[in-house]
Amino acid sequence: MSARIIDGSAIAAAVRSEIKAEVERLKAEHGVIPGLATVLIGDDPASATYVRNKRRACAEVGIQSFGYELPATISQDELLQLLSELSARCDVHGILVQLPLPSHIDARRVVEAIPIQKDVDGFHPANLGLLGVKGAHVPFAPCTPQGCVELLERSGVQIGGRRAVVLGRSTIVGLPTALMLLARDATVTICHSKTPNIAQVTRSADILVAAIGRPRFVTADMVKPDAVVIDVGINRLADPSDPRGFRLVGDVDFDEVREVASAITPVPGGVGPMTIAMLLRNTLRAALNQLTAAC
Ligand code: NAP
Repeated sequence: MSARIIDGSAIAAAVRSEIKAEVERLKAEHGVIPGLATVLIGDDPASATYVRNKRRACAEVGIQSFGYELPATISQDELLQLLSELSARCDVHGILVQLPLPSHIDARRVVEAIPIQKDVDGFHPANLGLLGVKGAHVPFAPCTPQGCVELLERSGVQIGGRRAVVLGRSTIVGLPTALMLLARDATVTICHSKTPNIAQVTRSADILVAAIGRPRFVTADMVKPDAVVIDVGINRLADPSDPRGFRLVGDVDFDEVREVASAITPVPGGVGPMTIAMLLRNTLRAALNQLTAAC
């Protein structure tokens, strides 16, 4: 039987409507409108689309967004100066610098220049590190991993006691996703490009998360019958029949794997909308946390 489709668009819409109600309450009770500064550097079309979608999503739930579009030639010092100004502003509760950055800019320094209370992307090492501390309160978990976990939880998938395999160990997706599943009592294995016999490992997974950026890498023979499969990958495949000249596919061969899995996320319409919804939620939380701050 074909797998149940975990509809990320519908779940994200439900999350956004909860956020919208909270934003309205915050405004009515405290006169505060959550604010997100987005910083886009250079002219990468995919990054521009991501930022545009994030700003549109902010507007839909009543979050203010302040957009900064900077040339690829901006110096690191100029960028750090802007971040310092945004950090001091009381109407900016969250700061997002769209990655990747031009090669002359040290991404780590930029991420660390965002104060952790405004780190709504959750990429600051202090926020990431807390994911690995048992029982710690994590102010802001990174948005895509948080979206994966939220999809599982809102779909009624039990995580505790299950065996989870995460494909990919990047600092912003694979590793934090694995830590978040571990914190929810899954038994977690991480695979990466140097892992031998990956299919043997993935076949042991009750929950399989694919985040490697390789189109349709996960095939049916790599999936345990009735596993739950979360596909984080977003890959562009050339497609002359599509007006954009490409279409998006995940890291999972959806058509094959849906015949084996018990539940699966599609691409698009799975993890992607959840990532943005979690950014909105982090921004709302940042505004709530800053109610008692000096501003
Ligand atoms: P990344 O930084 O390039 O990391 C890729 C990871 O996959 C690395 O750990 C790499 O291993 C591993 N890997 C690559 N090829 C592999 C292979 N053949 N077998 C096993 N492991 C392999 O990518 P990322 O930022 O984590 O993103 C991963 C995917 O998620 C991309 O398609 C990206 O577009 C997508 N994404 C989606 C969202 C969303 O909202 N849906 C958000 C962010 C990213 P090594 O560490 O050994 O190199």
